[in-house]
Amino acid sequence: MRLKHDRVLIVGGGPVGSVAALLLAQRGIPVTVLERADDVVLDYRASTIQPPTLDLLEECGAAQAMVSMGLICPLMQYRDRQQGKIVEFDMTMLKNDTRHPYRLQCEQFKLVGWLYPELRKMPNVELLLSHEVTKVTMGDDEAVVETTGPLGPKTFKGDFLIAGDGGRSLVRKALNIEFEGFTYPEHFLVAGTRYDFKTQMGDICSVNYTADPDNWYVLLEIPDMWRIVAPVDPNVEPDDAMQEAYLQNCLQNLWPRSEPYEIVVKAIYRVSQRVAQTYRRGRGFLAGDAAHINNPLGGLGLNGGIHDAVNLTQRLARVWHGEAPESELDGYEPQRKPEAVQAILGQTGRNKKLMEERDPEVRARNLDAWRALGASREATYTHLLETSMIASLRRSGMLR
Ligand SMILES: Cc1cc2nc3c(=O)[nH]c(=O)nc-3n(C[C@H](O)[C@H](O)[C@H](O)COP(=O)(O)OP(=O)(O)OC[C@H]3O[C@@H](n4cnc5c(N)ncnc54)[C@H](O)[C@@H]3O)c2cc1C
Repeated sequence: MRLKHDRVLIVGGGPVGSVAALLLAQRGIPVTVLERADDVVLDYRASTIQPPTLDLLEECGAAQAMVSMGLICPLMQYRDRQQGKIVEFDMTMLKNDTRHPYRLQCEQFKLVGWLYPELRKMPNVELLLSHEVTKVTMGDDEAVVETTGPLGPKTFKGDFLIAGDGGRSLVRKALNIEFEGFTYPEHFLVAGTRYDFKTQMGDICSVNYTADPDNWYVLLEIPDMWRIVAPVDPNVEPDDAMQEAYLQNCLQNLWPRSEPYEIVVKAIYRVSQRVAQTYRRGRGFLAGDAAHINNPLGGLGLNGGIHDAVNLTQRLARVWHGEAPESELDGYEPQRKPEAVQAILGQTGRNKKLMEERDPEVRARNLDAWRALGASREATYTHLLETSMIASLRRSGMLR
């Protein structure tokens, strides 16, 4: 194909934009990454990396790096606050389906922290931090982006543009693409502590989803601490939920002890279930949270975003190098949007309902269904294929 600028622009150097940049650069495509932050963004969002994501990231080296930085967690429990452990799954059951039959707990900032130096080593990558994109214009044969930053206003031009600028994507808004869905009324609280819940609580494992009509929570072991994700009472102001008293109360309510918890990280997030009406406008493509956002119950959002980056960069590379016609790019949305709608938003929406169910009869039925799932090897296997995203990637043709 005819290339006017010999360059792809990527807006957002978060995990999805940075993975896309590495994959394109490794295929010989020059990229410019425009990131508004002045360094790796230290946020406490994704830590769960699913098996097929690691399989897909092996070729570029990111999987091996994450495994070396993360915690391998083959076990996962569904629990109830009153009744304790209901079912435990062992993901090694997937050993013939993936080279990584476990959830890896590795925070997203560690992935980005590995990617930036890798990108800087590559002669065909321009990684520009402190460059906030303020305007996007899409022409017939180019994308034009304007930025602000300490060095003043600048303009960049590329043959294609990938929006990896997250849930509030400026690119998505500039391209006039609807973000359809809803926002939950409650915020989600994330707290990290070095207190070792496993030795104290006894029968938990590293990944625990605990249902409760009032105070459901997720308890995850990550490399050097335990992370708790829990809903904030909608009547409590987010600022108040970040205060020591509220955080202590949340942890004491989870596992009472005589001393206060040492809370080493805390964050609060507004959470939505939304998907972009289209993933493409001309030469601009949405990927990751710019295209779809979801609640964190299941550890799927970033994984889905990385799958977008893998799919889109493979297509772009084939077109770039003349191995496929430009119509190859039309296949991105039909292959990727169904995973967002069904596997990511569908599954996380169902997970939240299960965790917070208030009707005692429905709750009892849910717990029975979990027990029945655990009792059947075949049902467990099917469930693990779905929750690990292997099944949805097979359905879409991204995995065999
Ligand atoms: C509490 C919580 C827990 C989660 N846990 C998991 C999990 O375990 N597993 C999982 O798969 N997912 C999880 N997620 C979802 C996951 O965090 C996101 O899906 C992921 O961050 C999306 O990556 P991204 O690169 O698309 O967007 P982001 O991480 O939001 O990155 C966007 C980047 O773009 C930059 N940017 C934004 N606007 C501009 C601009 N105008 N100009 C330049 N740069 C810009 C930002 O600074 C940022 O660096 C969780 C989410 C939450 C809230």
